[in-house]
Amino acid sequence: MSARTALPLIATVAALVVVSTGCTSTKTAGSDGSKIELVTAGKLTTCTHLPYEPFQSRQGNKVVGFDVDIVDLVAKELKVTQEIVDTPFEGIQTGEDLNAGKCDVAAAGMTITPVREENLDFSGPYFDATQALIAKKGSPYTSLAALKGKKLGVQQGTTGETYAKKNGVGVETVQFEDVALLLTAVKTGQVDAAVNDNGVLFEYVRKNPEMAVTAEFETGEKYGIGVRTGNTALRKEIDKVVKAARADGRYDALYKKWFPAAPKADPKVDAQADPKADPKK
Ligand code: GLN
Repeated sequence: MSARTALPLIATVAALVVVSTGCTSTKTAGSDGSKIELVTAGKLTTCTHLPYEPFQSRQGNKVVGFDVDIVDLVAKELKVTQEIVDTPFEGIQTGEDLNAGKCDVAAAGMTITPVREENLDFSGPYFDATQALIAKKGSPYTSLAALKGKKLGVQQGTTGETYAKKNGVGVETVQFEDVALLLTAVKTGQVDAAVNDNGVLFEYVRKNPEMAVTAEFETGEKYGIGVRTGNTALRKEIDKVVKAARADGRYDALYKKWFPAAPKADPKVDAQADPKADPKK
């Protein structure tokens, strides 16, 4: 290689180094001293899809909810602050947002599924959920069978959509991008009923007493917090924080705060029991 061609090459390499340094994530120390990479220095950036009350929703200019509080516990442990990015559920559940460095964690009332596990890594389960049916109070739609020939609203890309399409024989599913649009459609009669996670539907019914949860389907789902595949340091940190919060009562306090209508669990049982037997696992 002649000196004339070598120089621009060096300049190109130098430029690449600068660019890649600019993209390099900043590191923070996990509580066991492990290095945790964060996409933005001093922040634990969370991808979520709003609204998903009571897990995440806007209150004034803030985003609040059970998931927000859980991730805040992790942020506190890392001595950083949580920053929330509202983004479509599709990019969250496919792992795309995590891979693109849009966020460090995905906390979106997201069910751990084998397909998703291929595309991102999940923390241990932090919440139990099941699919449920919502309709106007007094409506005859108390099962998928009763919805034959009727319109059933589903939320795009969710486990509820999968469940309804698989089990609603002869039911016409209508897809909505988010849960607010979905629930408004049931309320206004655009669809006859809708399927979504029980925690979200019970919260909606609490605030809209003209609506009712008419069935629950035992899908046995568990929510996990997503991290980029291979981000073991951060995943372990989340698990450590959630475990500690379950043991010292912080988890129960948050559960009571966000699920006021839910039956109270015995904190002693929560701290000691086999996690599989924990109703909130
Ligand atoms: N738990 C459901 C799922 O993971 C719904 C999640 C959501 O809509 N935010 O598909």
